[in-house]
Amino acid sequence: MATVNHIFSKLPKHKTSIFSVMSKMAFEHDAVNLSQGYPNFETDQRLKDLVAKAMNEGYNQYAPLAGIAPLREQIVKKIESLHGEKYDKDSEITVTNGATQALFLAITAFVNPGDEVIVLKPAYDSYEPAIELNGGVPVPVQLKGKNYDLDFEEIKQKINGKTRMIIINTPHNPGGNVFSKAKMQQLEQLLEGTDVILLSDEVYEHIVFDDAKHYSASAFPELSKRAIVCASFGKTFHNTGWKMGYCVAPEKLMAEIWKVMEVNVFCVHHPTQRAFAEYLKTPEHYLELGKFYQEKRDKFLDLIKDTAFKFEPAKGTYFQLLDYSEITNEPDVDFSSRLITEYGIASIPVSVFNKDNVDHRQLRFCFAKTDETLVRAAEILKKVK
Ligand code: PMP
Ligand code: GLN
Repeated sequence: MATVNHIFSKLPKHKTSIFSVMSKMAFEHDAVNLSQGYPNFETDQRLKDLVAKAMNEGYNQYAPLAGIAPLREQIVKKIESLHGEKYDKDSEITVTNGATQALFLAITAFVNPGDEVIVLKPAYDSYEPAIELNGGVPVPVQLKGKNYDLDFEEIKQKINGKTRMIIINTPHNPGGNVFSKAKMQQLEQLLEGTDVILLSDEVYEHIVFDDAKHYSASAFPELSKRAIVCASFGKTFHNTGWKMGYCVAPEKLMAEIWKVMEVNVFCVHHPTQRAFAEYLKTPEHYLELGKFYQEKRDKFLDLIKDTAFKFEPAKGTYFQLLDYSEITNEPDVDFSSRLITEYGIASIPVSVFNKDNVDHRQLRFCFAKTDETLVRAAEILKKVK
């Protein structure tokens, strides 16, 4: 169809998300899809029944902007019991269209043209475009080495009068690492006395393994007073397609987020909120998630232990990095593509998330899959030499 002559794109360099690219390729080649991060098993039938029940009971009109009170109450309880911080249910919580919307709201509410935002790389691919759409300047800081360690020296150097925000993600996608208590305390010290806002992406908060523990920004006074903490029900309850999540922040910050929320969507899907409000009354539903995914991780790693891939077991998230440097020296983008077309398995090349696309010859595999899929995946990976 004909259109105007000039479109002044707001994101001229933006490319289609690697998640869409790899999932599409996987579909076209009928490959086992361990690329995009979502489970290939069902969410709890009880949760589905609760959504249907809420619909049938007539909860089909707009919810309040911040989300329904019973759900906000459950979120307050959950955070208080896990991290000791008590958020105010009426002024410090917003239920959102997944964590992606929470992140976008936070960035839009606080980033003005010319403001700098420190982004730790590798990073989830929505952060930087959201900063740019608001006229902000992403300041990437690469996490160190193949294990993506948090090193504060460079971050310290990047903080200046224009720094409006720093975005962290723990447990970390795609690194599979979890920031320790000591690192969170170092971050507190670094930000103390500044007006830098902390955007803490904690969507994998319940998916931690072995002796690792998730330390939320909510648990540290110097961090919580400046933090917008984002969470995802999709990641926690195996229903990423429902796009439900939330964010919490001190009242003064949340008031700004509400201004954006109001003109953006006003509120999110009402019956699903009713369902989560009920479901969250049973903490085991999220407290047992780490054990559930640890079994998947261990199964996957056991199945692939005799392959030519090398790995350090993920400490959190449902992603496992595999190092293929002993197989080939091909760039990860090429190798991941070849794995789909020649072998029939899809993964994510990590370089696309890294600063300057640094390539450690690593691929990210999502193990939130049925055991049958993991077995099929391992059979294929054994053939890659
Ligand atoms: N942050 C990270 C680090 C993610 O991996 C994802 C992907 N799910 C999100 C945010 C987005 O979460 P949601 O699907 O709830 O929007
Ligand atoms: N967070 C998911 C991943 O890392 C993908 C989310 C998306 O497709 N936007 O794979």
